[in-house]
Amino acid sequence: MTFKPFPGQWLSLRRHQQPGSEALFGRERFTYMQLAEESMGLAACLHGRGIRSRQVVAVQVRSPWQLAQLLYASLQLGITLLPLDPSLDSQRRNRLLQQVSCDCLISDEPTAAPGAIWISSADLFGEKLDVSVHFGAEGQYADDIQLIIATSGTTGDPKGVMLSAGNLTASATASEQRLGLAAGDSWLACLPLFHIGGLSILLRCLAVGARVLLHEGFWVESVWDQIASGEVTHVSLVPAMLDKLLNHAGSLRPPEALRVVLIGGGPLSGSLAEKAHAAGWPICVSYGMSETASQFATDAGPDAGLTPGLVGLPLDGYEVRLTEDGRIRVRGPAVMAGYANPAGRLGVGLDQGWFETGDLGSLDEQGCLSITGRADDLLICGGKNIHPSEVEERLLRCPGVTGVGVTGQKDAVWGDKLIAFYCGAITEDGLIAWVGEHLPSHLRPRVCIKTDKLPLNQMGKLSRLALREMLSEVNRSAEGSS
Ligand code: ATP
Ligand code: MG
Repeated sequence: MTFKPFPGQWLSLRRHQQPGSEALFGRERFTYMQLAEESMGLAACLHGRGIRSRQVVAVQVRSPWQLAQLLYASLQLGITLLPLDPSLDSQRRNRLLQQVSCDCLISDEPTAAPGAIWISSADLFGEKLDVSVHFGAEGQYADDIQLIIATSGTTGDPKGVMLSAGNLTASATASEQRLGLAAGDSWLACLPLFHIGGLSILLRCLAVGARVLLHEGFWVESVWDQIASGEVTHVSLVPAMLDKLLNHAGSLRPPEALRVVLIGGGPLSGSLAEKAHAAGWPICVSYGMSETASQFATDAGPDAGLTPGLVGLPLDGYEVRLTEDGRIRVRGPAVMAGYANPAGRLGVGLDQGWFETGDLGSLDEQGCLSITGRADDLLICGGKNIHPSEVEERLLRCPGVTGVGVTGQKDAVWGDKLIAFYCGAITEDGLIAWVGEHLPSHLRPRVCIKTDKLPLNQMGKLSRLALREMLSEVNRSAEGSS
């Protein structure tokens, strides 16, 4: 067995092995030596304010740069970091803080958090760092909870996912093997760092000594410019970002230095994957979630993404099974220690190590996994199980449709009658006519409603809850006007 140090030791290791290599480039440029010193200094500031290892520290700051710094510092000090979406409202946030028994909240504005002391981000980052202090993260164990990740809250309140040092090491190792990440590579990070998709970039790069090119958001021009400059080898995007990037780059192909464009967070449509392949983008489809510390299946082949839903083989060390009704279950070294709960019990949300993802899918003979969608979103239409993403995938092939969200309306005849909200240049009658010609009867939306904007979160993920509210609103105004 190869020796894999824990995340708390990664930075010290890099500092010794490659002190002069660039580690982080964004607001400033840090070599691994500088990054280690800055992080130690920040860890010392936190220590000076009474924060000790294994305490839970929540961070709700607007600056991704500050959040990144706090991640590195938390690894040094051995605290449990809970990164939060700055736009999470205080009620939902405080419910989560109580669940995780939070000890300290670092945020931009003064705020009351139950049971936790408050530290101002401006004060903390305004302090002069003492770079002579050393925290070695000694005494850390594989079971120590290093991170608590808030899920995206697509289906309700965000849940606090506890990830141990062992989980993070396993996740970084497995994805390093599948994606071929090595020292000298550069990963462009433009996803929010308070979700696992963004945060795991920092961890993977630190584990192998690669460089993070940190963007403080997704601005298509600057992302493209950096890719076009030839210094990016890896980039993680959600499908909506890939779409913008392809439109922006037009006929320009990405340079050969770009080896991996990791797409995840939600379904990649076949039409977008075809467009990306035709323009020479090296697409890899990634499937995973907060509870699995990011990806646990990845399709990195030359046809990746071209078969909608196909997400490839599970990474090394993961077992995937399907329940009788097609729900995906996973067990493996990066599957969470459990959902955070006030009793601090490990294993909450797991069944003998198995996590039920809430997604539906299938496995082929080679063991490759395909995702059909979330079990909760399933509609029963004319007696058939229909997944809205299946209909969305097809509607996106209609010329003129640029975005679509399908939902169901209870109906005496259909059970769920399919309703499509869409963005694009085509008229509602035009889309209904196209649907009549191109879709089998059971997949046809009966009503198509044109809209300026679909309810997408920052990750470009469609909120089906908000889509149902949009439909109720349409129904209410129809009733009002009749
Ligand atoms: P919550 O659990 O709070 O409702 P969430 O499940 O959206 O929110 P995340 O853990 O951030 O929170 O997202 C994981 C989910 O994203 C997966 O369960 C799956 O539904 C979806 N997903 C991720 N990657 C893919 C993919 N490649 N194809 C389809 N769906 C994906
Ligand atoms: Mg989830």
